[in-house]
Amino acid sequence: MTPLPHPTIVVDGLGLANEMRAELAAEIAELRTAGRRAPCLAVVLVGDDPASASYIKGKRRACERVGMDSVEHKLAAGLSEAAVIERVEALNRDEGIDGILVQLPLPKGMRANRVAAAIDPAKDVDGLHPLNAGRLLLGEPCLVPCTPLGILKLLERFEIPLAGAHAVVIGRSAIVGKPVSLLLQQANATVTMCHSRTRGLADFCRDADVLVAAAGVPRLVRGDWVKPGAAVIDVGVSEVDGELVGDVDTESVMGIAALVTPHRRGVGPLTITMLLFNTLAAYRARCGV
Ligand code: NAP
Repeated sequence: MTPLPHPTIVVDGLGLANEMRAELAAEIAELRTAGRRAPCLAVVLVGDDPASASYIKGKRRACERVGMDSVEHKLAAGLSEAAVIERVEALNRDEGIDGILVQLPLPKGMRANRVAAAIDPAKDVDGLHPLNAGRLLLGEPCLVPCTPLGILKLLERFEIPLAGAHAVVIGRSAIVGKPVSLLLQQANATVTMCHSRTRGLADFCRDADVLVAAAGVPRLVRGDWVKPGAAVIDVGVSEVDGELVGDVDTESVMGIAALVTPHRRGVGPLTITMLLFNTLAAYRARCGV
């Protein structure tokens, strides 16, 4: 059998997430031993979308496992945007709450940016408040959206060189594409941001040392788009014939990429872990510890 030109590491995102969660649990245990209260995350769910309900269950369990408190606020889908904002404002005033997450998507007619802007920036663990987004742009300390933060931690743990590297990001959303591009740039990568109107997407990808695919287009990135030795981060999750698929055709990048994240147990577990990380960071900043 011909050896693969590049043995490809398939990242165990769950394993990495568990390692990071154990570190967070140890930090929280230390705070508790010192007589302090546990950090507390408030999750607001509007409506009864089953996928959202399952996501918040996962978040509650993740909090429990690291010794963090969490509270759920389930609101009826028919509630007005103003009523949801009122609930967020009550959580802002609650001294016992360190982080507030409003589960997306919100029901039709409710503006996610309005609701995000109502969250106290110091408790904005999703990093979507305009003040945190602005601080990220300015390179100032802030709460950073969880998925981009998880991606940077992953690249750091695997010691992927970023300084001077060409990073190509497919997608320019406020929650993934833009913040991950800014973080990569802060790490001294040269970043190309691509989107649905980019001409010659494949050629940009072929020049990427680090390729982040966050388009939500099933198997958009194939092996012949990948530079030998590149790190390929698959963020996309789409459902095709009842099956979840990523933006990267993983099989076809094997032996070409140096590292790839699988669409299952790849970036996903790190996203929740960064929610815990941000909640602990918000707690520390608020309590001065
Ligand atoms: P989004 O808001 O829909 O943004 C998608 C971006 O991809 C847009 O900027 C769009 O360009 C671009 N795009 C769409 N089709 C493209 C194509 N054919 N070629 C190049 N660019 C294209 O999505 P998002 O919220 O950023 O999420 C992206 C994906 O990641 C989704 O599948 C989502 O489910 C997944 N996701 C996963 C996690 C996780 O934890 N695993 C977390 C967040 C998101 P335009 O701006 O021109 O429209």
